[in-house]
Amino acid sequence: MKICEYLKEGNFSLSYEFFPPKDEKGKKQLFETIEELLVYKPTFVSVTYGAGGSTRDRTFNTVKEIKEKYNLTVMPHLTCVAQQKEDILALLDKYRQIGIENILALRGDQPKDNPQQGFCKYAIDLIRLIKDNYKDQFCIGVACYPEGHQEAPSLEEDIKHLKEKIEAGGKFAITQMFFRNEDFFRFKELLQKEGVDIPILIGVMPITNFKQIKKFADLCGATIPLDLAKKLSEVQDKPEEVFKIGVEYAIKQCEELLDYGVDGFHFYTLNKPQATKEIIEALKDKIFSLRREEKN
Ligand SMILES: Cc1cc2nc3c(=O)[nH]c(=O)nc-3n(C[C@H](O)[C@H](O)[C@H](O)COP(=O)(O)OP(=O)(O)OC[C@H]3O[C@@H](n4cnc5c(N)ncnc54)[C@H](O)[C@@H]3O)c2cc1C
Repeated sequence: MKICEYLKEGNFSLSYEFFPPKDEKGKKQLFETIEELLVYKPTFVSVTYGAGGSTRDRTFNTVKEIKEKYNLTVMPHLTCVAQQKEDILALLDKYRQIGIENILALRGDQPKDNPQQGFCKYAIDLIRLIKDNYKDQFCIGVACYPEGHQEAPSLEEDIKHLKEKIEAGGKFAITQMFFRNEDFFRFKELLQKEGVDIPILIGVMPITNFKQIKKFADLCGATIPLDLAKKLSEVQDKPEEVFKIGVEYAIKQCEELLDYGVDGFHFYTLNKPQATKEIIEALKDKIFSLRREEKN
């Protein structure tokens, strides 16, 4: 299924993001997580791709195995920085051969230990490569940043480049994690002003570990509200309390986003089911009243 076709009809999308496991133990955990979350009938699942192609084979094998085992729509992430055009085209050919119809086209970041020059400076170069070689065989998703990408001089400038990605062939976007809905509402207003009208799936990162989330947030420039950070820091050595605060916060945030009328939720699961499950359970009446499966 092409995700853009599903979204074009105004359907609410529910999806999960996984990373490709490194070993058998990780693989077992991934498949147990998928099995626990299958009950909510995801629209699609996605598999991340390591910087500079470092997980090229693992991402491909994970995508293939999930697709074969569960017959789900699987969207591989693909980054282009520090890689050769020929290698990316060879990988896209392999995805076509196993029936993949969706790609999340990203720039990625330069691997610090192995910086290289490649054909790609920005994600738009990858989008153009896909369109030039495969026309509409892949439905292309892109990343977007409600607080602005950390390298962009302003949110407005970042939105200008998002618009260029859409004009080049991106059909929907998934947000970076964010914890203040007002950032998303402002972002949507600016998109409207710029005439950018594509489905935007909310990247939901439930906080389950304070030290880890601080590190992730620093890396991608997401702001953790002060009162939430204070609450979490007070219990940071009590994992169960951090989990409880994080999940409760995500439920409230998602509920407000549902009332606002967002196009879907994309859960950053980190290959663990519990937080995602609790959030969906708490909101399932609202979520499922919006989903195609439930409407029919
Ligand atoms: C949903 C999601 C999934 C992700 N998955 C992965 C993953 O699997 N693997 C991974 O390594 N990373 C992943 N990332 C992280 C992503 O690779 C980084 O955020 C990266 O720094 C930017 O990627 P991009 O595709 O948004 O880049 P771009 O859209 O190219 O933007 C990067 C920066 O360049 C600027 N820019 C764009 N075009 C121009 C131009 N013409 N002139 C000047 N400036 C310009 C933008 O404003 C922005 O500041 C993901 C991010 C998100 C939100």
